[in-house]
Amino acid sequence: MSTAPVDFAARTAAHSMDGFWKDDLAHADPEIAAAIGKELARQRDKIELIASENIASRAVLEAAGSVFTNKYAEGYPGKRYYGGCDYADVVETLAIERAKQLFGCNFANVQPNSGSQMNQAVFLALLNPGDTFMGLDLNSGGHLTHGSPVNMSGKWFNVVSYGVARETETIDMDEVAAKARESKPKIIICGGTAYSRTWDFPAFRAIADEVGAVLLCDMSHISGLVAGGAHPSPFPHCDIVTSTTHKSLRGPRSGIILWNDEKYTKPLNMAVFPGLQGGPLMHIVAAKAVAFKEALDPSFRDYARRIVENARALAASLEENGLRIVSGGTDNHSMLVDLTAKNVTGKDAEKGLDRAFLTCNKNGIPYDTRSPFVTSGIRLGTPAGTTRGFGVEEFRTIGKLIAEVVDGLAKNGPEGDAQIEESVRQRVATLCAAFPVYPGM
Ligand SMILES: *Cc1c(COP(=O)(O)O)cnc(C)c1O
Repeated sequence: MSTAPVDFAARTAAHSMDGFWKDDLAHADPEIAAAIGKELARQRDKIELIASENIASRAVLEAAGSVFTNKYAEGYPGKRYYGGCDYADVVETLAIERAKQLFGCNFANVQPNSGSQMNQAVFLALLNPGDTFMGLDLNSGGHLTHGSPVNMSGKWFNVVSYGVARETETIDMDEVAAKARESKPKIIICGGTAYSRTWDFPAFRAIADEVGAVLLCDMSHISGLVAGGAHPSPFPHCDIVTSTTHKSLRGPRSGIILWNDEKYTKPLNMAVFPGLQGGPLMHIVAAKAVAFKEALDPSFRDYARRIVENARALAASLEENGLRIVSGGTDNHSMLVDLTAKNVTGKDAEKGLDRAFLTCNKNGIPYDTRSPFVTSGIRLGTPAGTTRGFGVEEFRTIGKLIAEVVDGLAKNGPEGDAQIEESVRQRVATLCAAFPVYPGM
């Protein structure tokens, strides 16, 4: 063994980590930094009307980009499979306690990585392959994970879908009851992605009780409204409640599972880890905790109320400007616009509106005759616009702008009316400048 003293200065120089610790993204990876910069500009300069999107706070972004990215914390607070979890425990415990307080329930699992995984965890906990569950049909506004044939939920289980009535375009509770009696599902799911009416949780509870089903609410789209008191709570009616955290709730991209009865605690926690996931995304758990704190602030009630008020104003403005709203209006943050009478497809409308700096998505309407790649409608939502500060006046204007672009498409076909689209872009720019996104970032 050599007895020569180690030359530490030479060793540090030879393994210089200066860039690793000091380079910001713009220096380390200009291509990715440029794309992020352009994405920020896009979010600033266009009006976001996608009903499932929002604009998270700077604090949420900071937590999501934090050093918890480095940490493995398999297990749950106080029962981890790794050392060094003291602060991971602090973060996860805060997230759990805040989620419980926010939604008024006894138990919470804040580890699901996404909305799809939270629902998979409920299936894993309560069903065996081949078992029957009921959910809202995708064509009526349900979610992929509620039994679509292309999703695991549709491939591994026997799915009985309920839909909306042709006449009212709202959920027909008699149909739900009849199908439940006939199929005896183990789980009935309420909640969806493109349904603009209030969910009648007590009515679902009565049906679930009658047939002995577990009642699951997937409140992903409306959880911000529930948190802010602008939509009835699924508790105490539903046994298990799942939610994404990045939609109206305005947190990081992720999922949570909530419940009241202790009997679900072990199966649900075991299903998330080790059933489906390994190490939780602790940086995202931290960001969820931050978002829950924000949603517990009294100002969030005002935010939730304004989301609904703005959605009503947008729907009314669209109708006044000649567009039909599915089911005749909205009770929540979202709406489906039926473009059939204008002979414009959802696909062309999405593209035309994007050219005019209005971002939304094409969406099938109930009993749509066009394919899911074309569709006869668009889905609109107000959570993101409400976050940047738009009120009723701004959303009435946005309704008018959308109608102008659609009329241009009706007149000229898919390429639209360039003059109208330019004029709309200018008015969008005025609105965006008055209500800046991430100023100073
Ligand atoms: C968005 C959504 C999901 C899935 O969320 P991902 O995070 O995209 O996997 C699940 N259920 C409903 C009702 C949703 O709206």
